[in-house]
Amino acid sequence: MTQPLDIAIIGAGPHGLTLATHLLKKRPKWRSRLKIFDPSGQWLTVWQQQFNALDIPYLRSPAVHHPDPNPYALRHFAETRPGHFYPPYDRPSRELFHQFCQAVIQRWQLQEQVIPQKIQAIEPLKGRKASRFELHSPSGEPVITRRVVLALGPSVPQWPSWAENKQGERLCNAQQVDLRTLPLRGEQVVIVGGGLTAGHLAVGAIARGATVTLIHRRGMQVKLFDTDPSWLGPKSLKTFWEERDWETRWQMIQNARNGGSLTPDMMTQLRRVQKQGLLQLREHCQVVDLRRSGQQWQIFCDDGQTLKCDRLWCATGTQWDAAQHPLLKTLQDIAPLPLVQGLPVLDDHLRWGKTNIFVMGGWAALQLGPVARNLAGGRMACDRIVPALIKPSLA
Ligand SMILES: Cc1cc2nc3c(=O)[nH]c(=O)nc-3n(C[C@H](O)[C@H](O)[C@H](O)COP(=O)(O)OP(=O)(O)OC[C@H]3O[C@@H](n4cnc5c(N)ncnc54)[C@H](O)[C@@H]3O)c2cc1C
Repeated sequence: MTQPLDIAIIGAGPHGLTLATHLLKKRPKWRSRLKIFDPSGQWLTVWQQQFNALDIPYLRSPAVHHPDPNPYALRHFAETRPGHFYPPYDRPSRELFHQFCQAVIQRWQLQEQVIPQKIQAIEPLKGRKASRFELHSPSGEPVITRRVVLALGPSVPQWPSWAENKQGERLCNAQQVDLRTLPLRGEQVVIVGGGLTAGHLAVGAIARGATVTLIHRRGMQVKLFDTDPSWLGPKSLKTFWEERDWETRWQMIQNARNGGSLTPDMMTQLRRVQKQGLLQLREHCQVVDLRRSGQQWQIFCDDGQTLKCDRLWCATGTQWDAAQHPLLKTLQDIAPLPLVQGLPVLDDHLRWGKTNIFVMGGWAALQLGPVARNLAGGRMACDRIVPALIKPSLA
């Protein structure tokens, strides 16, 4: 690519797509100024892989949350495709959401915009072109761009200390599990975690012939959504924005999300397999140590009990620490920014310091609140970033 770009979006997930459509809605002629970078070279690869690998039938969020600027677009799309919404609150099926996103990509003519590159470093150019950046990737020439939007998604999984250095095929995190490929029949699987991902893994493994023990350090929490819907608007966000202390804001985010939770329908499914003797629920239980025992793992819990299993999966969430993120930590060299519990203190337009680098997703949670990482957070981020992109005087 010889011509400098105007805007580079890094990450072709739901958030990158949301940014592209919201920007093109305001500036339809800007398509040629825009490129999206993702190692897969395609839209929504990670999203699709996660839903397929865990065999998730439908989304947790209602139909208004999606990457198109028109909140009703998914409902209109579904009119000719009945039976794809799950009650309550019309949560779209995986297929419907996928087909809809493909239609969005086509309608906004974004199919050809994704460049198959993983961006490893961002460097400011020196001298006369100091307002531009060079994007470096292991494959391909450096790309020069004026503005950058980071839509990277979460980084590495949160890995419990007792599992450190023991990772392998039979001990892995939820992101590495692909239920479709594993020979689970007759196996004993232990899953650590209390969120919806842990639930999907348990139900999926049992459907494939395994017996499962689900270990959670707290009691299972049942909630329809992972965050109360009041966080989508001023009802809860007003107090959040009035809070000027970043540590307190971070704590408000933790309180609002309150760790992982299961939807009521997932809890019903778990109770059903529990009654059939295929699932053991061990709540208020913590793993303290782990040892190999032939082909199996021996698990030691804080209540003195020991378990054996063929596979151990950690559904213990992801780390949100910019200091540990391969790309975000390189930004600290360009423009050092305070981090609060790992999250960057961005400006009101989600800009990294005084640079023309903008950040979306869970990384922008100190500004957007607890739904930043969800689909709804993508739209909230656009409300902040797009005005700054189309009117650079908003400094
Ligand atoms: C199993 C699961 C189900 C979920 N269900 C819902 C739901 O129903 N509703 C909801 O609102 N939220 C849901 N979420 C939360 C959230 O919406 C998703 O995690 C969503 O994928 C976030 O979108 P994203 O674009 O931020 O990240 P991702 O989907 O992870 O996309 C980020 C993209 O950036 C690319 N990338 C990363 N680093 C680089 C780099 N250095 N260079 C180039 N490209 C890079 C990645 O390859 C990836 O394609 C779910 C999450 C999970 C894990």
